[in-house]
Amino acid sequence: MKAMSCKLLVIGAGPGGYVCATRSGQRGIDTVIVEAKKPGGTCLNVGCIPSKALIHAADEYHKVARFAAGDSPLGIGASEPRIDLARTMQWKDEIVGRLNGGVAGLLKNASVKVVEGWARFRDGKTVEVETETGLQTIHAEQVVIATGSRPVELPALPFGGRVISSTEALALRQVPSRLVVVGAGYIGLELGTAFAKLGAHVTVVEALPRILPQYDAALTRPVEVRLRQLGVEVLTGAKATGLTPAGDALAVETGDGQHKALAADHILVAVGRAPLTAGWGLEALDLDRDGPFLRIDARCRTSMRGVYAIGDVTGEPMLAHRASAQGELVARIVAGDDRIWDSACIPAICFTDPEIAVAGLLPEAARATGVEILTGLSPFQANGRALTLGEDAGFIRVVARADNHLVLGIQGVGAGIAELSAGFALALEMGARLEDIAATVHAHPTQSETLMEAARNALGHSQRHHAP
Ligand code: FAD
Ligand code: NAD
Repeated sequence: MKAMSCKLLVIGAGPGGYVCATRSGQRGIDTVIVEAKKPGGTCLNVGCIPSKALIHAADEYHKVARFAAGDSPLGIGASEPRIDLARTMQWKDEIVGRLNGGVAGLLKNASVKVVEGWARFRDGKTVEVETETGLQTIHAEQVVIATGSRPVELPALPFGGRVISSTEALALRQVPSRLVVVGAGYIGLELGTAFAKLGAHVTVVEALPRILPQYDAALTRPVEVRLRQLGVEVLTGAKATGLTPAGDALAVETGDGQHKALAADHILVAVGRAPLTAGWGLEALDLDRDGPFLRIDARCRTSMRGVYAIGDVTGEPMLAHRASAQGELVARIVAGDDRIWDSACIPAICFTDPEIAVAGLLPEAARATGVEILTGLSPFQANGRALTLGEDAGFIRVVARADNHLVLGIQGVGAGIAELSAGFALALEMGARLEDIAATVHAHPTQSETLMEAARNALGHSQRHHAP
């Protein structure tokens, strides 16, 4: 058995773990990271990056298909579109491969030692890793658990055969003719929309009464409209009860008690993700839990001294940038900085059509804090740039305290709004008031002017109309 020791040991090289290890290495800390699969974790290999590549490819294909159907008010025509999904997947894999190399390079340049294999805790300071060349013991002064999450499996619909998770959906070589999606959350709607644009007949089954139930109805309405336009059938308040006896369809109980069989080539189950807390010796540590997650404090410390946890294994929101920000925080703490988690918000984007972007509090959550609030909304229909892009669905909304106009939240739905979310988060982080946003000169013509107009509307100022 080989043995090594280090100051900081990170388990898992996802966006939490690799950022933590890189920053720690850059600060001159003797750091080791253990990864069983490829660098970059869920996000890079089977999550954020491959899904956004597929969504982009689907958008491009759909655009050409609309042109070919003579459905272009811009007067653009095209001949029949074709899609070679195997080639699309190869393109996506090349992007992933480049980024894998990028992460490996970052770790190397920061002098982080990478151990490939599955780690298992022996105690709070010792881990054993099954590597290709035998068992490796690593003893560390401090440890970071960044093991991430896995897709939730429904007992009535175990993964296998036709029943797939996002990982298999992101590796399909052919566009399915009939795709049934269970769960109208982030994954179900992002991938369901992409496959619908690629020509699949998509049906989405959601247990709750609304799609994307974490957002308010105003934010999700433009997405519902677009799903309908794309021919996506959405069954809300419906329960997937298992496969039909023949095994080629999903048995569903609808809200009104009817039973349906939805024939499908693939059934994508996307009903959430669960923290990866099994298989790596959590029993040896006996850490406090917060529901299924590892409990952490504002310094990402678990209940055991010298053991930190970051990313999906620690709770919602399970987003890559939260994991990375926590990783950065822990690296600084281990390097001796006196830091705690004090970010004003963790923005979230749902890459549906149109995209939804949320930073800070939604109106209902802001009201629930007990303060009186102001809201201001500006639609993209009144925005020259949105009209020139042929994408005028949606709006931006600002939520602020009524007394001092401190901005509490900014949300929006609209084409390309993901890129505007940086401004939303910056405003919240800088403690902006409505007047700050309203008085900032925004470049014309840009969709970002809609944020300025929303702030003006919250202040009761009349909307300014630019010449088109
Ligand atoms: P992970 O990325 O899950 O990484 C954990 C790593 O630890 C894995 O590589 C795993 O192999 C390794 N590991 C676990 N246990 C061990 C062990 N015992 N020994 C060795 N290695 C181990 N988030 C966004 O912010 N934006 C998006 O657009 C987005 N899109 C997504 C799309 C899909 C389809 C999915 C599934 C997720 C998406 N997410 C998105 C969520 C995002 O992927 C996660 O929030 C993020 O990856 C969490 O990072 P992490 O470092 O906590 O864990
Ligand atoms: P989700 O929590 O976003 O959505 C799950 C949906 O499934 C919910 O609407 C829920 O009501 C529904 N559901 C639960 N059980 C059901 C059942 N038995 N039958 C029918 N519907 C059921 O989960 P997800 O889409 O699997 O994504 C997992 C996580 O991955 C997200 O929460 C997010 O943290 C992350 N993610 C983020 C992005 C992004 O940032 N753009 C994209 C994809 C995934």
